[in-house]
Amino acid sequence: MRDLKPRLARITDLNHAAALLEWDQETYMPPGAAESRARQVATLRSLSHELLISEETLTLIDRAKPESEIDQDLIRVVSRDIEKATRVPSSLIAEMARASGLSKGAWQKARQENKFSEFAPHLERILDLSLQHAEALGYEETPYDALLDQYEEGMTTAQVSEVFTSVKSDLVPIVRSISEAPDLSDSAVRGDFPLKKQWDFGLEAVKAMGYDMNHGRQDVSAHPFSTAFSITDVRITTRSDAKFFNPGFFGSLHEAGHAMYEQGIDMQLEGSPLADGTSLGMHESQSRMWENLVGRSRPFWKHYFPRAQQAFESTLGGVDMESFYRSMNAVAPSPIRVEADEVTYNLHIMLRFELEQDMLAGEIKVQDLPEQWNDRMESWLGIRPNDDSEGVLQDIHWSLGAIGYFPTYALGNLMSVQLFNAACDENPNIISEMESGQFDSLLSWLRENVHQYGRRKSANQILKDSTGTTLSSEPWLNYIRTKFGELYGF
Ligand code: ZN
Repeated sequence: MRDLKPRLARITDLNHAAALLEWDQETYMPPGAAESRARQVATLRSLSHELLISEETLTLIDRAKPESEIDQDLIRVVSRDIEKATRVPSSLIAEMARASGLSKGAWQKARQENKFSEFAPHLERILDLSLQHAEALGYEETPYDALLDQYEEGMTTAQVSEVFTSVKSDLVPIVRSISEAPDLSDSAVRGDFPLKKQWDFGLEAVKAMGYDMNHGRQDVSAHPFSTAFSITDVRITTRSDAKFFNPGFFGSLHEAGHAMYEQGIDMQLEGSPLADGTSLGMHESQSRMWENLVGRSRPFWKHYFPRAQQAFESTLGGVDMESFYRSMNAVAPSPIRVEADEVTYNLHIMLRFELEQDMLAGEIKVQDLPEQWNDRMESWLGIRPNDDSEGVLQDIHWSLGAIGYFPTYALGNLMSVQLFNAACDENPNIISEMESGQFDSLLSWLRENVHQYGRRKSANQILKDSTGTTLSSEPWLNYIRTKFGELYGF
């Protein structure tokens, strides 16, 4: 282990240096530096890749004598990383990089001009390469298993399908009931929300939640994200709208949720490939929990509403807390995923999950995709996109070759409620703490049951150990029925 660990630390350092360059690119880099920056990032990433799959690393792993459970986990996880990395021929990796480079440009143009036909041949190529990628990675039941596994290790298509099917069959009627009920006004979250005050108010909340600014910082970027360069440096970015409260505030809570996950990883894992979130779904469960289960709840606003009134006096001075709570939770089916509310969001994901599988299986042709998209959108959400730019062309993911990525967003939503319920069962004081702006019990429970493990446990294992069950749709559906049933009277 004495020789293996420093080697893995060097690989991790290269990845973190690349991540720092990418963070800079999204925050402070002058626009003219894009080309040189892309080259620098590629250099660091390929060096790290070469070091990882080299003979020397393999020999060190063979010779390593684990002295602890952490050592055993480290060897298991790194061996699996290397195996996956070496299964895919470098010619295919290069071909995928070339195709997605071209495809991204074509997608941007197609979206701008609202012309799906410009993007269609590129998507066909991406699908073809994704199938080759899946064959190279290997799978048990369906090629989709291999693609999903890249983002949500250990989950199978069958497991996800079963859970999503149950969500969909209950959720579609719920959305219909909400559409038939009188609209909730969102007027209290619209108005003047000065940017500087949003910045301060958001920071006050994320610091109270437990985001450690001694090991983090917040900056502005076009698309908010969080990123880590070590357990001791996990950053978030935000973007606010001076006329709309939700995106800036809930965006900060969301990214801080991601960041607190990585700040909470056991320091013994620092510098090793284990010091990362275990899957995208588990990562998203953390961001969604703080954003929705905490941030969009009455107990939270019992403490924060008077503060919000002070900060945004001209807009909220004459509003009561209940109107503010209803406003921020108003459900309004939109064709755009990133604007979707808590209720409809998962349907946007399930639409993409089904279409990805149908396309890979050859059951629908790329040329028929817009029609399929719009038809399903209409039958599930009751709305039809006006054009392909707000329909099938809205997301960047497919153009980058990220097939199998979307489900992780919905998995995060489902897991967030399972974990939150387990935390509250064990600590009934979590809700009353929230009412006084305290989050210690919730954060400690997450540190103990989720964060500390990094990649040592899979998402499935974390769920099993901390909630006693596997992935399940029922807790999330119950949460939605209770919260929105009360708001919309169904
Ligand atoms: Zn997220």
